[in-house]
Amino acid sequence: MSDETKDNVTDKDNNDYEDICYICRRPESKAGKMIHIPNNICICSSCMQKTFDTMNHGNVPYMDFMTFNPGMMNQTPLTHDIPKSQKIKKKKEKKEEPEKALDPKKLPAPHLIKASLDEYVIGQEYAKKVISVAVYNHYKRVSEGVMDDIEIEKSNMLMIGPTGSGKTYLVKTLARILQVPLAITDATSLTEAGYIGDDVESVLSKLLQAADNDVEKAERGIVFIDEIDKIAKKKNTNSRDVSGESVQQALLKLLEGSEVEVPVGATSKNAMVPLTTINTKNILFICGGAFPDLDIIIKDRLNKQTSIGFSAKLKDELDHDPRILSEVATEDLRKFGMIPEFLGRLPIVYTLDGLTEEMLVKVLKEPKNAILKQYQKLLLLDEVELLFDDSAYEAIAKEAMKKNTGARALRAIIEKFMLDIMYEIPKDDNIGRVTITGDYIEGKGAPLIEIRSNQAHLIE
Ligand code: ADP
Repeated sequence: MSDETKDNVTDKDNNDYEDICYICRRPESKAGKMIHIPNNICICSSCMQKTFDTMNHGNVPYMDFMTFNPGMMNQTPLTHDIPKSQKIKKKKEKKEEPEKALDPKKLPAPHLIKASLDEYVIGQEYAKKVISVAVYNHYKRVSEGVMDDIEIEKSNMLMIGPTGSGKTYLVKTLARILQVPLAITDATSLTEAGYIGDDVESVLSKLLQAADNDVEKAERGIVFIDEIDKIAKKKNTNSRDVSGESVQQALLKLLEGSEVEVPVGATSKNAMVPLTTINTKNILFICGGAFPDLDIIIKDRLNKQTSIGFSAKLKDELDHDPRILSEVATEDLRKFGMIPEFLGRLPIVYTLDGLTEEMLVKVLKEPKNAILKQYQKLLLLDEVELLFDDSAYEAIAKEAMKKNTGARALRAIIEKFMLDIMYEIPKDDNIGRVTITGDYIEGKGAPLIEIRSNQAHLIE
């Protein structure tokens, strides 16, 4: 080995990242030990051997590359493919580490997880409770591995709730509390492999990215697949359902736990993208969706029961039950278009309630990072106090309710009226306090401006 080559090896040794074969793009963990040649190029021994074999037969496919890197020709003769045992050995080492890395004693208990969620997420008490227990059990399972012959089952979840009820927000908050990497993906972007759109493995590529390309960290992460209702089986179709049922099929192996080859730093596999293997056994999958019209399916089922049993609810009562979604059963989801195998791999199903006007007021006031609090902080940097009176909260909530997009509507409304405030206030150094009123939100009046001498007056 030349000096230059040695230098490269030591550089690489210091590096946490795996070497990747310049020719076949496989990482060291898959391709075995790499041969380092100048210009920071690594070649796996099997590619190197293939190259020599081809040259011996008179074909020289990598000739340009060889002449460009003459150092490569000085390598000592190589053996054939790396024995399989070596590959397995290295993988085993990787698997053992994450299991040790999570200390079950340091896991926050379910009530503490829920208490942390309470600081950010308003309402959804049942969902928060279910998620806290499920996550606690999941990570206990991850840290324990297999106990005797009792293997604890994976706690993948299915979250059903209307738009803007906090599905994504709940998962994001959870990942932050647990300090695990999180990948959020949209099921609508996924298609069966080979079709335009992302393969299901792209979900894991995103997780790997969120984990700083650290495979061990990614293997303990959370994947949130939003809009899962959009991959329901298409009804009455004769063509191949590449973005519906086929995606559900493709997701099965991820949900269950298997070794998946994942492109690193890209969402699709191609010759120029290195691949790595991720084991999804300990990755927590949470699927979420609004499932429009699922309530009709539930009502239908319950109505049928009504005509048979005494205990069931009356039809009229069902029609006006705002919490009808919480009665969901697997058969309803099946009727919706989710395949049984898919549902079988999501053992925990729970619903989120649509936010009411009172809940929206709380969303504005209470969460630690509530959007209005963020504006208050921004203005405080200009030494201006920003206040909202109760009528303002109510007016914002009322307007948001009209849009039917839950808490999502709040941001747009707030941003619209805050634009003027944020533009006008810094103009005048004398302003010390601004109070937003309900009238201002409804376009009937102006905010109450107080100048620093505490004289209150209204501006036009
Ligand atoms: P979806 O259910 O459609 O995934 P999101 O979780 O994306 O809705 O909610 C959008 C935004 O609304 C969040 O970023 C969050 O700020 C706010 N939000 C929604 N639900 C709640 C809630 N229950 N408590 C506090 N904030 C919420």
